[in-house]
Amino acid sequence: MMEIRRGIPVSPGIVVRQAFVLDSEDYRIPRRFVRESEIEAEVERFHLAVKAAEKELDSLKAEVLHKAGTEVAPIFEAHLRMLLDSQMHGEVVEQIRRNGFTAEFAVSVVFRNYSKSMKAVKDAFFAERVVDLFDIQKRLQRTLLGKKREDLGHLTEEVVLVAHNLTPSQMGLLDRKKVLGIALDAGGRTSHTAILARALGIPTVVGLETISVDVSGGQTVVIDGNRGSVVVEPDEDTLEKYQDAESKYRDFNRSLLKYRHLPAKTSDGVRIRLLANIEFPWEIKNAVESGASGVGLYRTEFLYVENPQDVSEEAHYETYKKAVEELDGRELVIRSLDMGADKIFGTGAPDHVVEKNPFLGCRSIRLCLENPDMFKVQLRAILRASALGNNLQLMFPMISSLEELREAKLVLADAKEELDEKGLPYNKNLKVGVMIEIPSAALIADLLAPEVDFFSIGTNDLIQYALAVDRGNERVAPLYKAAHPAVLRLINTVVKAGKKAGVKVAMCGEMSGDIAFVILLVGLGLENLSAAPSVIPEIKQIIRSITVKEAKRIARRALRFRTSDETVNYLIENTRKILPELF
Ligand code: PEP
Ligand code: MG
Repeated sequence: MMEIRRGIPVSPGIVVRQAFVLDSEDYRIPRRFVRESEIEAEVERFHLAVKAAEKELDSLKAEVLHKAGTEVAPIFEAHLRMLLDSQMHGEVVEQIRRNGFTAEFAVSVVFRNYSKSMKAVKDAFFAERVVDLFDIQKRLQRTLLGKKREDLGHLTEEVVLVAHNLTPSQMGLLDRKKVLGIALDAGGRTSHTAILARALGIPTVVGLETISVDVSGGQTVVIDGNRGSVVVEPDEDTLEKYQDAESKYRDFNRSLLKYRHLPAKTSDGVRIRLLANIEFPWEIKNAVESGASGVGLYRTEFLYVENPQDVSEEAHYETYKKAVEELDGRELVIRSLDMGADKIFGTGAPDHVVEKNPFLGCRSIRLCLENPDMFKVQLRAILRASALGNNLQLMFPMISSLEELREAKLVLADAKEELDEKGLPYNKNLKVGVMIEIPSAALIADLLAPEVDFFSIGTNDLIQYALAVDRGNERVAPLYKAAHPAVLRLINTVVKAGKKAGVKVAMCGEMSGDIAFVILLVGLGLENLSAAPSVIPEIKQIIRSITVKEAKRIARRALRFRTSDETVNYLIENTRKILPELF
């Protein structure tokens, strides 16, 4: 039966494909059928699997009782009761006999139904039982599949990937030709998983809470990354409507590309620099094709996705060299490592310790300053690459105070000295900027300005820290508001401080890639916006349709609203007036 689910849209586009469900154990249960003549053998295979699982549970129980004492016995007894439940057996057998499903798929259908009804009862006891059910389901399926796992790396068909969550490294390694859409239980709009989905141009909806449990592999799923909805098993009319929307959206995107080589200039002649955020150098080609005039944020920590052991100075250097060459004289802002929090790749972060509050812990510049030798490896490589193109700039993330900025600059000076000793060239006038992504930095922008060449406002973290809302947590996602008056005041403070000191101010958080905010940002005086390549054509179209005078009037009004909802409605209304087809 058709089911419509609402989540958080994080990467635009529409796609209809069969689901590939990656559960937390990383293996896939496709909807497969057996021939009629094999049905009874399949039923037998299920019964044998139950026996094997029972044996496994018995020995596990004995082992754990030995280690942990008799209090744990009821857990295993309950598991055994569930495993041997004759009603469950009857239902699985019925799925095999009636639908011709394989035993493993029949098990997933029956268990998904059980956990759905248990979840409907909002009670902690039942919530716990769902975990137990999942455990038994996995045990049975492991036995049925002979422990053979099918992983994401071997997809043979185009699919919509459904999972509880994906780590940024899993995202980085996805086969983009096969994974055409993503639906996740967890996540928020600016989690790094979401950012990567946008970078990869994969329509994605997150924050769906239980989608990975409710959908079975092989079911038809629609991902509407524009509106944030997911339709499971659409009926015929809905399917047709979405298939049509999928091809229309592709055409619309193609049509936007005709603007790509036109300048991002307002209709009263003010030039806005429109740059791209990238995580991997291979995105540069796409960024330039989308009309970006350079890269405003290169998130270099993603180098560790492909080199989980470590990244040598040469590997850093070769990558940056390639980026400079590919950009052919265009701007390239390299951000030094912003590792930690949700970006832990392999052994990239030395002495990685699990922290209670990683987003408030030793992430990013703090981790680099704690490990100056590792930091210098990257800085030397960036400096060496700066000799290849004057347009390369360096940016420090997560600066919270002037002392921290000075300390980072001292390590940079050390790295320069080391290159001088070796006689290696670098750009002596390398521009150094900081990200403004912690409220303290925004509030002391006037104090930081004399010691930097530019600011780049990182709204993803700035919003998270200003509003105390975890950017990756779907439970608090409705509280994560870019248009919160406090956020707008912080941005305004930074722009004003930068202008007063003659320091360039850019924005590279996801807010600059949100079409609803383009007029506001231009009106606040931002002349450098960096966003995911996929949204650049739309932003350019808005910029070319407005005057700075009008944008300033709209920004002044927006700053006076008392709630973010009023501001957002007002901004959408104004953007819609200019370009109705964007909505
Ligand atoms: C930001 O915080 O806005 C930003 C651009 O950095 P990241 O998303 O990588 O934390
Ligand atoms: Mg950040």
